[in-house]
Amino acid sequence: MITLAPREFHLFQAAGRDFLYLVPSAAIFALDDITSAVLAAVTETKRTEAAVVDALAERFDGATVHEAVADLLAVRAIGYEHEPESRTPRVLPLMPASLSTGRSGVIPLTTMVMNVTNQCNLACTYCYEYGEDKIVDTEHGKKPKFMSEQTARESVEFLLRESGTVAHLTFFGGETLLNFPVLQSTVAYGRRRAAELGKSIDFSLTTNATLLRPEIIEFLVENDVGVTISIDGPREMQDRFRVFHNGAGSYDVVAPKIKELLKRHRSKPIAARVTLTSGTLDITRIYRHLTEEIGFGEVGFAPVTTSPGQGYAIGERGFDTMLAQFRALAQEWLECSLANRHHGFSNVTESLEEIHKGVSKAYPCGAGLGLLGVSTDGDVALCHRFAGSDAHKLGTVRDGVDRDAQVAFLERNHIADKTDCSRCWARPLCSGGCYHEAHVRYGTTTHPNLHYCEWIRGWTDTCLRLYGELSERNPAFLARFDREEAKAEAVV
Ligand code: SF4
Ligand code: SF4
Repeated sequence: MITLAPREFHLFQAAGRDFLYLVPSAAIFALDDITSAVLAAVTETKRTEAAVVDALAERFDGATVHEAVADLLAVRAIGYEHEPESRTPRVLPLMPASLSTGRSGVIPLTTMVMNVTNQCNLACTYCYEYGEDKIVDTEHGKKPKFMSEQTARESVEFLLRESGTVAHLTFFGGETLLNFPVLQSTVAYGRRRAAELGKSIDFSLTTNATLLRPEIIEFLVENDVGVTISIDGPREMQDRFRVFHNGAGSYDVVAPKIKELLKRHRSKPIAARVTLTSGTLDITRIYRHLTEEIGFGEVGFAPVTTSPGQGYAIGERGFDTMLAQFRALAQEWLECSLANRHHGFSNVTESLEEIHKGVSKAYPCGAGLGLLGVSTDGDVALCHRFAGSDAHKLGTVRDGVDRDAQVAFLERNHIADKTDCSRCWARPLCSGGCYHEAHVRYGTTTHPNLHYCEWIRGWTDTCLRLYGELSERNPAFLARFDREEAKAEAVV
């Protein structure tokens, strides 16, 4: 007796119908009544195909049921119980020929994040770089406080050597603008060298906005440099954590400077990046303030990265509040998108783009692959948050990527080895979550971020529903994700 059994999928409803998110393939299917009924029958209890036909005889004729069973088998939403389920293949994306069985193909570097300084003129209480959770000693360590022009040039050469035809360079800190002279000369040098090599390069930076002044704004406009600003919202939220070394809040300093930047810099969306803490979870209010009162076109939110003992760490109830708030704002995003109007809640836009493209990740992000961080002395690390950490070093800009270290990292961190994630339907998009968060929480990049699984699954389900609504009610809107060019990874 051959029995049918459900395979790995997540069922969700949108626009009045059932949809399937298939876990191994990350594909989405809209179900009609008959396939929904067959799936429900097989999920309720494992049955033979004949038993499914019998169970549905009152509603559907046998031939239609057989057809629906065949469709569901073809997309692997169901399978024969005696056949093994397909598991996540353990394929490394990077296999230099010398380290493998002849297969070659090195993933090109897409985004290089350059820490032009590890110093900051703010002393944000929750900052992973300066607080109790730091992994690099920026005060007493061996690393120079500022990147030299020479190291910056060597970093550009490294990026252009390792990249394909398109390269993204992101300046990061510390506070990036503390080293504006090097940033300035690097943009000029990068443009010249990319042109000589027939490549294209673009630039972006992340800043706390305290040091923006007219000539810097002019430079950013003229050079079309993308800008992400770290800001937490209205005055009382911003000033709670984002303070100067003397404890003074930074809101009154940054607000007018950001407004000026937004007025002048029109060629690229200037994004706000908000760090959420247990005490600042009024997401709608933060969003309103940043879009309507300050003028941002894009706002992204991320929970603070910290060990659980910190008072500002978001606990279980905090994640529930955050999810409810995200959902409310996501509904607003949907209404705008149905009417082809822009809404700047960028967390939704980014997730929907991944869903639309059928992203299924073996690794949570590009760190150590298409994205690398560079410390002030030119050491190459997994990403900007690990830049300067000897334990996470992957080479130097002078000597190139240490392929053995890179392969060893990819071996250790593949989703196939995260047993906690192996039965999770959200793994194509989450893949265990940020390595830095895992390192801070659990002491190792290999540990999945199990403290926020419910949040991840809840949010992924919300985004899938939004996707389903749009695919039924305004499918043309989704076509914009096909047009998106290769982009720099979001750097926070
Ligand atoms: S970390 Fe949690 S939510 Fe993410 S893939 Fe693993 S089990 Fe799923
Ligand atoms: S998600 Fe985490 S590990 Fe990945 S690039 Fe961002 S900070 Fe680094």
